[in-house]
Amino acid sequence: MDEFDIIRRYFMPAVTRRADVVAGIGDDAALLSVPAGHELVVCTDTLVSGVHFPRHTPAAAIGHKALAVNLSDLAAMGAQPAWATLALTLPDADPRWLEDFAHGLLALAQRFDVELVGGDTTRGPLTVTVTAQGLVRHGMALRRRGARVGDRVYVTGTLGDAGLALRLQERASAHLQARLDYPEPRIEAGQALCGFATAAIDISDGLLADLAHLLASDRLGAIVEIDALPRSAAFLEVHETPGAGAQPAYYELPLSAGDDYELCFTVPPAHSTAVEQRLEHAGCAATAIGEITDTPGIRCVRANGSGYTPVARGFLHFGEDQHG
Ligand code: ADP
Ligand code: MG
Repeated sequence: MDEFDIIRRYFMPAVTRRADVVAGIGDDAALLSVPAGHELVVCTDTLVSGVHFPRHTPAAAIGHKALAVNLSDLAAMGAQPAWATLALTLPDADPRWLEDFAHGLLALAQRFDVELVGGDTTRGPLTVTVTAQGLVRHGMALRRRGARVGDRVYVTGTLGDAGLALRLQERASAHLQARLDYPEPRIEAGQALCGFATAAIDISDGLLADLAHLLASDRLGAIVEIDALPRSAAFLEVHETPGAGAQPAYYELPLSAGDDYELCFTVPPAHSTAVEQRLEHAGCAATAIGEITDTPGIRCVRANGSGYTPVARGFLHFGEDQHG
């Protein structure tokens, strides 16, 4: 199988076809028509085997995740996903692997009406780069900058599941494993927040690290109520309430583990009821976890009011161990 066989066999039969694609796979570049009154939102993310996912990760999960992490960035901007390109570097052309990989990626693309419009295929250590494009009404995108003192801090879904799956490895329950391998981009939630949230980011590196990005540019701070962090039933089966002898993982995973791909956003108190209703309508749970303050830094507090000093801050490339 050469490069062209791979493209023809696995990536051309994509199920999503959009009317706004003038030219997709097969020309020198994709030709896309951007509707009037919209801005183009573009993001790219690379997954390297052994760094961003363990080497034994199923091919379908790698395909899903490569697109999902990009759609998550579009979600955090409040965009409607539209198109994607795929730069794929493979050690060999294993038909079984390619079929599963393409299926994982294209099934997610179909769910969000994303058309795969091009890419590049090369030989080398397994690396997957997806570039995704979305659309947002002019001036309506959610940004990282914009939070104000007194805004409530929210997160969607639950936190710490993916980090727990990584830690438990083969002992992880199916739910936890799926949270790591098949993250769900919060597209509807992101769109529901446009015009209501003052700032938003997706949580890829851990809550503390990503929330810090919402504060840095404006020299703001935040209080995070760590007992209020949303934890899944599957998480609580492993790490029940902290009790007297603190279980660091109960706090540390939701605070600092990455890979959850939930949204973290800020909302003025006057909008909080509207936002909660809009998210419920979008079918996405959201939890208030704290508040923006004018004291730089993130302060973690327990329900009883006592302070908590996190052990870890979040996942930093070039700064910490990576998955093997
Ligand atoms: P060029 O040499 O002009 O860059 P290529 O031979 O690399 O073109 O690719 C041929 C066509 O196939 C292009 O339209 C390109 O966008 C598309 N393509 C290549 N690899 C992939 C891939 N992994 N997924 C989707 N489309 C791809
Ligand atoms: Mg090329």
